[in-house]
Order: sequence, then C-alpha cells, then structure tokens
Amino acid sequence: MSNSHESGHLHGAGAHDFELPPIPGAIDIFDTTLRDGSQQEGLSLTVDDKLRVAEQLDHLGVAFVEGGWPGANPKDAEFFARARSELHLSTATLVAFGSTRRAGVRAEDDEVLRHLVEAGTDAVCIVAKASEAHVVDALRTTLDEAIAMARDSVSFLRQNGLRVFFDAEHFFDGFQANPDFTRRVLDAAVTAGAETLVLCDTNGGTLPHDVERIVAQIVADNDCQVGVHFHNDSGCAVANSIAAVRVGATHVQGCVNGYGERAGNADLSATIPSLTLKLNVRTIPPDRLERITPVSHHIAELVNIAPNPQQPYVGSAAFAHKAGLHTSAIARRSDAYEHVAPDSVGNGTRFVVSEMAGRSTLAFKAKELGLELDSKAVGEVLDTLKVLEHKGYHFEVADASLELLLRRATGWEQDFFEVESYRVISDHNNRDNTEATVKVLVGDSRQVATAEGNGPVNALDSALREAVGEHFSGLSGIHLTDYRVRVLDTGRGTGAVTRVLIDSTDGDVVWTTIGVSENIIEASWQALFDSIVYGLLRSEHQVAKTASTEEQEEQEAMAGEALRRTAREEK
Ligand SMILES: [Zn+2]
Repeated sequence: MSNSHESGHLHGAGAHDFELPPIPGAIDIFDTTLRDGSQQEGLSLTVDDKLRVAEQLDHLGVAFVEGGWPGANPKDAEFFARARSELHLSTATLVAFGSTRRAGVRAEDDEVLRHLVEAGTDAVCIVAKASEAHVVDALRTTLDEAIAMARDSVSFLRQNGLRVFFDAEHFFDGFQANPDFTRRVLDAAVTAGAETLVLCDTNGGTLPHDVERIVAQIVADNDCQVGVHFHNDSGCAVANSIAAVRVGATHVQGCVNGYGERAGNADLSATIPSLTLKLNVRTIPPDRLERITPVSHHIAELVNIAPNPQQPYVGSAAFAHKAGLHTSAIARRSDAYEHVAPDSVGNGTRFVVSEMAGRSTLAFKAKELGLELDSKAVGEVLDTLKVLEHKGYHFEVADASLELLLRRATGWEQDFFEVESYRVISDHNNRDNTEATVKVLVGDSRQVATAEGNGPVNALDSALREAVGEHFSGLSGIHLTDYRVRVLDTGRGTGAVTRVLIDSTDGDVVWTTIGVSENIIEASWQALFDSIVYGLLRSEHQVAKTASTEEQEEQEAMAGEALRRTAREEK
C-alpha cells in the first residue's frame, strides 16, 4: 500500500552518496505486543487479556496484530483457537508467529510450521537467521542450509495459502558483517513468495544513520515490501523506525508503549504520531489518531504495568506545564511549549500547580474546575500553597487535595460530616492487630465506630466508613488503591516529617490526596479524610450531572469562555 507523495524526492541526495527513495504516502503498522512485547520482564497475559489487547489494537486501527507463537506454548495455541470464534477484528489482520523449519527436516514434517498452518490465520510471520555468525554459532549449520530453510519454509506456507511476512533476524548486524549471505537469505524468501521482508535489529544496537543507508539499499534492490523491526537498546528504536520509513520502508513493527524484553521494542505510541503528524505518512485511519492515548492507557491497565507519565505524546505529563512562565505563554499561544496539539493524540494540556507556579496557572486550574476565584483569592491560595509546600506538601501529584484547597478558597466547606476525634491502638500480640475508633457528627446524629485493621490506615479507613457509611450510599463504591509513604527531612531519623499519598477510585476515575505530619498516623488521616470528602463530593456531582447534562454542558461552555477571557486579560 505504498503510494508515494508527489514531492517524493524533496529530501534528495544531499549529504548522501546514494539516491533516497521517496517518502511513502502510507505504511502498515504491525503490532507485536502480544508476541515480542510479552517478552518483557513482569509482563504476563492470560488468554482473556490477550483477546482484550487485540481488541484495543483493532480499535486503534493497526493493520496487523501479531497474536503469539502457537507452536511454542499452549497459551498461544489456545489464544488462536479462541480468536477464531471470539475475536472480531474490523481493521486489523491477525498474524501467527513462528520460525523457519529446523535444519535437516523437511518443511512438511516440521512441527512449528504445522502449528502455524493450524493457527487458522490468513497471515503468518516467520523468523529466519539472516546473519552468518548466528547461522554458524547458534544454529550450527551451513550457510546453504540456512538459505534452504528460509526458502522451503516460505514455499510451504505459501502452498498452504498463507500471506508470509519474513522477519530477517539480526539483519543489520549480519548485513554489516557479511552482506552477501544476508542478501541471499532475503532473495530466497522473496523468490519463494514472501510478501514483506522485515529487517530486524534484534540486538537493538543500530543507529539511525546506518539504518537510513542500509534500508535505502534494500528498498532499491527489492520490488517487494520492506519492513523494519527495531529494539530500543540504544534508545533509537523510534528514531530508527522513522529513518527507515523516510527511505522507503512501508511496514513498521513495534509495540504500544514500547513493551519488550531488555529496553523494549519501538514504541508505536510515539512512532505512529510522529510519522502521521510530522511526515504526513498514513499509519492508522486518520480519524483514529486521537484514540492513541486512551488505547495506550487501556493496554497498560490490561498488562498491569503503570504507564510512564513521561512517555512522549501519550504520557500524563506529556503536555503538563509547571513553570509559571510557560503557563502564561501557553495561555497566549497554545503552541508556545507544545510540539503538537495535545488533542490530536487524545491527550490534553495540564497545568501543574506547585509553589513554582504563577498566578495564571492557579487561575486556570480554578477555571478548569469551574470555580470562581477573584484575583485576591488567587493570591491568597498561592500564599497558602507556598507555606504548605514548604512544610512538605506536594500538590502536583495530589490533584484531589488541591481541588479541595481551591474550593475552600471560594468559601466552600465540606458539610458531609464533622470529626470529633479519632484514636488508633496498636497491639503486638499473636495476631498483630490495630484498632481504630472514630467519632463524627453527621448532621445532628453522633456516630461512634470502632474497626479493626491490619494497620492503622486500614483500621481508620474502616472505622470512618462505618461511622458515616449509612448516611452516604456513594461511599461503598469508593475504595483506596494505593498508599505511599515518603520520609522527608531524613537527617532527623524517626523524628522526621512524613508525607503520605493515597490513591482512591470510584471505578471511574482515580484521585490522589496528601497528608504531611511528623506523626505518620496524622499524615495518613489527613490524606484519608481528603480522599473520602473528595469521593463524596464526586458522587454528589455525579448525581447532579445525570440529573441535568445540559446544564453541565452549559457550565462547561461558560468556563471555557472565562478561560479565554482570562487569557485576554493576561496580555
Ligand atoms: Zn524482536
């Protein structure tokens, strides 16, 4: 599918001693998260997880999803068996992975090839050694046999009606050491009917200038599609993929979020937007690029690996602005500190509030939340923030505590419940046990609740829920998901200040609250208290929202107008 741009030769020969082919107009994205990506340490997927990941990739619109290696393990065999009836892909083609026949075995007698045919996909990808050193040292066979293995395996799969992608393993290293042998392997695959020659940088050590030079030669020498597969051991997997496309590769393999063993595979979450937005190469259906951030996060959740906030394009910090100078500049020109429009990739600009932030950041944050804060109030909040951050609070990460702080600045006070006292007793006996008692007033009714827990936070959480739970039905859907303690001012040993961060969720969103104190129980209580109050506030708003979505939309439109007004005033 490689139609070229009219302006193909724009980047011409220049500093090169060879002619560069035109930049392709479109390429195929081949995701290997379920095969190569799952080699990552700590990444393990059930068959159900694999089906869900494949659905997400199809929703994103990649051309190919490599599902696994049916001959190598029963889980992947089960995946392909279930995929036939349970997986309904609309954009992507499912691909089974395997290797060439073994040395000295006929293709029709080879077990791996048989499993590939039995996987029941329309397309397969087989890996072959394309480096002399690996044939001699690892395979311990002759170069001629290695070439016959490539040829016979492709022929056999073609005879079984399959589309064949040919992964040339250790291609770049092999090509630099013995280009003649590596070319003979590629020729054998093409002659036997391979659809795509995939040049693999298996050790991930190749740099972009070598990629550009070598891929250009292979593209010039072959009529068939040329693809690439990069590992990130030199930190260049995305750059190498882009370099390869610039010289005519039209099939790019990689993994969403750059999963993979060692330093990972090429991160498709960066490769796809860079090729699409900067080189104007069609990668996935154009109207789906904005799905890339949600899909990246959804897949991170399925593989149970916390997303990296600093990941380009899709990270939660990818468009987060902290310094006051940046945020006021962004108010004037959105592209001042953003290399692409965040919503083009489904991400958003975020203003991070900290003591370093100026007035404008805080004003934006308030507008974002739909709060009316005049400039005097903004100044007061800023002063409060500075004092609290000096004590060890860190509001950048505690979005919910920050929101409560801003709401209080508007004169709001939570009236869900009033705390009279709390107490924690920790016993050391046969069963380490902690007991907490919480006394609160909910309206006119005084509630005293005692609960046990495996630690003070757990016991306090249970007691507080017990005390106020019957008055607020929304509370049952809220639970804590993470509790982190950091000791500040470590020079003071056990007398040091403790910062506690608590993550909570209502199943819809996650929020973070903070507490700081020399007393770890007090710090935990502050974070816990904010967490519950914020959760109740959210559940109250949810009810109001479903009651009147129209009103909500109107408010949002007004907030947007207010934001634009502030931006004008700042000029
Ligand atoms: Zn690989």
